[in-house]
Amino acid sequence: MTQIAAQPGIMEIALYKGGKSHVDGLHEVIKLSSNENPFGPSPKAIAAYQAVGPDLHRYPSTDHADLRAAIGARYDLDPEQIICGVGSDEIITFLCQAFAGPGDEVLHTEHGFSMYKISALAAGATPVEVKERDRVTDVDALLAGVTDKTRLVFIANPNNPTTTMIGGNEVARLADGLPDNCLLVLDGAYAEFAEGYDGGAALVQSRENVVMTRTFSKLHGLGGLRVGWGYAPEAIIDVLNRVRGPFNLSNGALAAAEAAIQDTEFSEKCLAENARLRAWLASELAAIGLPSDTSQTNFLLVRMADHAEALAADEFLQSKGILIRRVESYKLPNFLRITVGTQSECEKLVAALKEFKS
Ligand SMILES: *Cc1c(COP(=O)(O)O)cnc(C)c1O
Repeated sequence: MTQIAAQPGIMEIALYKGGKSHVDGLHEVIKLSSNENPFGPSPKAIAAYQAVGPDLHRYPSTDHADLRAAIGARYDLDPEQIICGVGSDEIITFLCQAFAGPGDEVLHTEHGFSMYKISALAAGATPVEVKERDRVTDVDALLAGVTDKTRLVFIANPNNPTTTMIGGNEVARLADGLPDNCLLVLDGAYAEFAEGYDGGAALVQSRENVVMTRTFSKLHGLGGLRVGWGYAPEAIIDVLNRVRGPFNLSNGALAAAEAAIQDTEFSEKCLAENARLRAWLASELAAIGLPSDTSQTNFLLVRMADHAEALAADEFLQSKGILIRRVESYKLPNFLRITVGTQSECEKLVAALKEFKS
């Protein structure tokens, strides 16, 4: 046996499983398994990415000043309170690394995003799971789960994979109910899809213990480039910048993200299409006996009769070249998570599920 041992907690990490991206023997698939933007990135983001080619020998910016300024201008936020990371996953990692360690507890919800648990374990801290109420974040349960060891509380609002969210008053009640030494992280990966929601930005501004994370991977269609950001009080940003690698974001990622956040026309178009197709898909599926909770995101969590039917539907869809996400690992064995695709993709999905149900 080797004497080389990983730090405590590391071997408890279950490897992250991404959405499927291919089917053996099939050339073209419809990928509705990773909540990507079916319309791709903004053409302006692609052009900006391509334009950095000749300068790839140059190191990228270490302070991301241009991208932070663009994000600040877009949402009326102070760029000094913004940090950029390799996906919002990296911001989650920084938060756990900087604020939790052995003996500390990190709270997350029953069906919460798996990166919270993974990053807590990687930091040597103890992840603690808190029940939800019918697939909705339960503020009372979270507050009851806090101990004197709790350092971080993660919620995604709206949440993946449940599609549900809690209102501003509930989020504020959670922030106010936490002890002063405990940080609330509002993961806003899907914030843009919830109409009229600021992702928690105003709450960050009025509190000392609230952080918001956002991503370019969903609405902005840049999952392959890996860019996310966090917004927090300056004292928190100062801590996070100390653990951030100086060149964590590449030239291409910075350029593309800056162009993407400035292309509001493209974003608005994608949001409108998502809202329209999401409503159509939900009602078509409900009509064939496949209900879903009202989604505030770019995907649906579709309820099947039982686990066996979820498995059979997944297999049937795969045989038709349609990839969706099973969510047993999120303790939702009877459900399927399905990204809202283009109109033609949604139509093919509905036709396939109609055939499956008949
Ligand atoms: C997709 C997703 C993220 C974003 O991850 P990136 O690292 O930015 O690609 C974060 N949180 C949740 C809940 C997500 O679903």
